[in-house]
Amino acid sequence: MTHDVHIIGGGLAGSEAAWQLARRGVRVRLSEMRGGGETTPAHQGAGLAELVCSNSFRSDDDEKNAVGLLHHEMRLLDSLVMRAGEKARVPAGSAMAVDREVFSAEVERELAALPNLEIVRERIDTLPESGLTIVATGPLTAASLAASIGAATGSDSLAFFDAIAPIVHRDSIDMDVCWMAARWDKGGKDYINCPMTKEQYLAFHQGLLEGEKGEFKEWEANTPYFEGCMPIEVMAERGVDTLRFGPMKPVGLDNPHWATPEHPNGRWPYAVVQLRQDNKLGTLWNMVGFQTKLRHAEQVRLFRTIPGLENAEFARLGGLHRNTFLNSPVLLDRQLRLRKARHIRFAGQITGCEGYVESSAVGLIAGMMAAAELAGGEWHSPPRTSAIGALLAHITGDAEAETYQPMNVNFGLFPPLPEVKKKQRKEAYTERAKADFSEWLANLALVPA
Ligand SMILES: Cc1cc2nc3c(=O)[nH]c(=O)nc-3n(C[C@H](O)[C@H](O)[C@H](O)COP(=O)(O)OP(=O)(O)OC[C@H]3O[C@@H](n4cnc5c(N)ncnc54)[C@H](O)[C@@H]3O)c2cc1C
Repeated sequence: MTHDVHIIGGGLAGSEAAWQLARRGVRVRLSEMRGGGETTPAHQGAGLAELVCSNSFRSDDDEKNAVGLLHHEMRLLDSLVMRAGEKARVPAGSAMAVDREVFSAEVERELAALPNLEIVRERIDTLPESGLTIVATGPLTAASLAASIGAATGSDSLAFFDAIAPIVHRDSIDMDVCWMAARWDKGGKDYINCPMTKEQYLAFHQGLLEGEKGEFKEWEANTPYFEGCMPIEVMAERGVDTLRFGPMKPVGLDNPHWATPEHPNGRWPYAVVQLRQDNKLGTLWNMVGFQTKLRHAEQVRLFRTIPGLENAEFARLGGLHRNTFLNSPVLLDRQLRLRKARHIRFAGQITGCEGYVESSAVGLIAGMMAAAELAGGEWHSPPRTSAIGALLAHITGDAEAETYQPMNVNFGLFPPLPEVKKKQRKEAYTERAKADFSEWLANLALVPA
């Protein structure tokens, strides 16, 4: 069968994209290397949409939780992942968890029933030179294809490891303790600085040494990542002052909260934790140089001992994993197309979203975009106030390209509602998202799936 769209990768994103296209009458070739003699270091079998680790799609609460809201929007778009997830559902309280075997089999069964979809077990090694293509090869993209993507985008544009520093919601930082400044007052007052006394620093350093850490998987340990993104606890192990000469360097940072008649501009703290703006909205700030393999609960406990971050709410916690992903904010246009070669779209985790649900959602929307392109209609992306729209906007230009790292959906990606009281914001974001998304859907000029 000749095809209109070639999808490379039959994971969550590729399967969802194939469903959205083939159900609209588009002829699709779906190339999946597993089942054709290849595998990735994490997958166990040959099933489409295999869940490589946990069996959870996280919260299903669409009133107060961003990922639950994403479920809701995906269901309205007749998502295959949500449909198969429902059939495979197992009890998990307010979360949505699935039997992974049933889930994958259900995805495969639904796709196999589509007459204009051809599933081919083959590895693709180079980016096609022509023809509408969706690349959804995930965080463990085969090396040959990764090399081809690297050649097309520039080697600096494709990462093989994430080095995730925690991200904090701006409105949870105590600015009576922290202050805005750049080192030596150079440039604008671009950083939020959290000051530490000697006692606080020493206790923090000890906490890093004692904190429980996650281990690298065997296949991750062989991939070099160290230069430039060493975990903070590894730096701490090198000596008590290593961090004070590295990411926690206090020099050139007068703390105005410590001003005295003798020192009207304040004094340098013993150590400083700096946060840098992470998205254009200014709602999310990353902790500079704080990539870590500390366990998540440990990160929350320890990082809340940092002055000014006692009540920090984390949009994302730190991590370090094998993860192939593009610097999408610079490489992709608003429709997930490679700016340099617009016949190629990317979808799923390779775009720099993070998580099963987010990867599926980006696959879903990439499929819809390709369908709209083939139909010759004008495409309007979901509103930024919706979960899919916020995630898409972040990936395709709103995130800071320089510090771009994989991101889960969270309310920090949504346009802020400062006029609403903090306690009521989640409900307010949700209400606005649902109204705007419904309006977008009602006006969508695309054949329903
Ligand atoms: C070890 C690990 C654990 C994770 N655990 C979780 C978790 O617990 N919860 C969570 O929400 N997220 C988790 N993730 C993150 C992520 O959400 C999942 O990896 C998710 O499966 C990404 O979806 P995807 O469709 O983008 O990629 P995938 O689901 O990985 O699908 C990509 C597909 O492309 C195929 N492929 C690769 N290269 C080629 C090629 N050249 N030609 C043809 N086919 C190719 C692969 O075989 C694979 O089937 C984890 C990631 C990893 C690596």
